[in-house]
Amino acid sequence: VLVLDAVAKSYAGVPALAPTSFAIEKGEFLTLLGPSGSGKSTLLKLIAGFETPTSGAILLRSLEISGLSPAQRQLGMVFQSYSLFPHLTVAKNIEYGLKRRKWSAERRRARVAEMLAIVKLEHRANALPAELSGGQQQRVAVARALAYDPDVLLMDEPLGALDRTLRLEMESEIKRIHGQLGTTFIYVTHDQQEAMHLSTRIAIMNNSQVVALGRPDDLFRNPPNVFTAEFFSDAT
Ligand code: ATP
Ligand code: MG
Repeated sequence: VLVLDAVAKSYAGVPALAPTSFAIEKGEFLTLLGPSGSGKSTLLKLIAGFETPTSGAILLRSLEISGLSPAQRQLGMVFQSYSLFPHLTVAKNIEYGLKRRKWSAERRRARVAEMLAIVKLEHRANALPAELSGGQQQRVAVARALAYDPDVLLMDEPLGALDRTLRLEMESEIKRIHGQLGTTFIYVTHDQQEAMHLSTRIAIMNNSQVVALGRPDDLFRNPPNVFTAEFFSDAT
């Protein structure tokens, strides 16, 4: 569903992402895993359209999207600072993204109800974000991004602000939602355990490069390079 063809990004001549190529199939859960400054967010921003590649091409369903604005790409996005609208209820927050769809009010309401059920927040539809826990707020952010039915959902450290208990709980929720919907997820984290638990494949990043890409158990058992081996051994 998504193909990166030698996509690269430099800032003032300094590479933030070396030329990177890989393809993601529909329904995959790809995690970008790597230390701080390794280029994870840069890669995600290029896919989202917040940054333009210095060179290379990005194809979504065989269509070159490098020239499209973030809105035109119709991808879902959830970031660490998820910024729900504080003055809008949970239901209104989820409905917000649907304004771009030319749907009737009735159809929008039905979609919001469906999304509330998926993230198990039916009972909090009329609450304001400030009345929810951090994990519940993050679930609203996920529901808002998915309401739109994007081909691909991009998440940049969505659980970074949560405490450990909530993080583990949300991890399971995200895994369940991915399994239930079959949407393609691209997920950024620097937490090895989280990546091992969630991903169908992991791209390990270091020094602005993808240094390994594969299924979690394959990478763990047969690390293709020293960095990958050491990165995983640090996790335990
Ligand atoms: P973290 O885990 O800390 O979020 P990251 O892997 O997401 O790190 P990036 O944000 O992708 O890292 O940054 C990769 C490199 O690109 C870093 O060296 C960073 O300083 C640089 N960089 C990112 N954005 C810009 C920018 N707007 N201008 C200049 N340099 C940038
Ligand atoms: Mg980042």
